[in-house]
Amino acid sequence: MRVFVLTGAGVSAESGIPTFRGKDGYWRNLDPTKLATPEAFARDPQLVWDWYRERRQRIRTAQPNAAHEAVARLAQQTDEFLLVTQNVDDLHARAGVAAEKMVQIHGDIFITRCSRCDFSYGGRGGSPEPPGACVVQPTNRRLRSIATTSERDLNVPTCPKCQALMRPDVVWFGEQLSRNELERVEDFLDGGACDLVIVAGTTATFGYIIDWTLRASQDGAHLIEVNPEETPLSRFATRLVREPAAIALPRIVDELRNSGAL
Ligand SMILES: [Zn+2]
Repeated sequence: MRVFVLTGAGVSAESGIPTFRGKDGYWRNLDPTKLATPEAFARDPQLVWDWYRERRQRIRTAQPNAAHEAVARLAQQTDEFLLVTQNVDDLHARAGVAAEKMVQIHGDIFITRCSRCDFSYGGRGGSPEPPGACVVQPTNRRLRSIATTSERDLNVPTCPKCQALMRPDVVWFGEQLSRNELERVEDFLDGGACDLVIVAGTTATFGYIIDWTLRASQDGAHLIEVNPEETPLSRFATRLVREPAAIALPRIVDELRNSGAL
């Protein structure tokens, strides 16, 4: 079995990680699609860092759900497997998908890198934030404004090599995908026809997600879409599952195993 899986925000939403779209994604009344941009970072790096620190903290306390675990079982039971996830959290990794079987195409929120040179630090799981970096949320409004002021002084990391601002190693709107990660996806797709393609928890907004799915399934692969709503990929799917990923994926992986496919 040669298996290609793509996942998106819907998979992590079931672990309590807010998606960018919809009212749950809003933070301090700000639209995440406008915060996750190079322009927002240039204008107010502290604001963008505050938001990412909160997201990191939320991810640390979140747990992989049944969808992450099902993908990990599939990865472990398949010789040729690649997961491409649009999620920058570490929940797939914590569920047990090995790094060499996964591409985080939009980056890794726990890596901090220089905005100018190649210096970076951090890694999967993330080290604890530096002192003062955890977002303080006093209930009293006056205290909250004081806490915000002190955070603003403390928490704009700079590069020890070149003094430029450090940033999260994620792909922002309007930025190029990492060439290295792109090559890993291309290499897998060039490596042979897939038997099974699963697309889960993504609205397939990005053209490259659609392209890769269609390339992987062009030679007659079974294409399963797991998403509560229709997407641009729905009409190509050989099976549509209109359920949350945490419900559908464990069942699908069980079916594969029971049918002897794994
Ligand atoms: Zn630097």
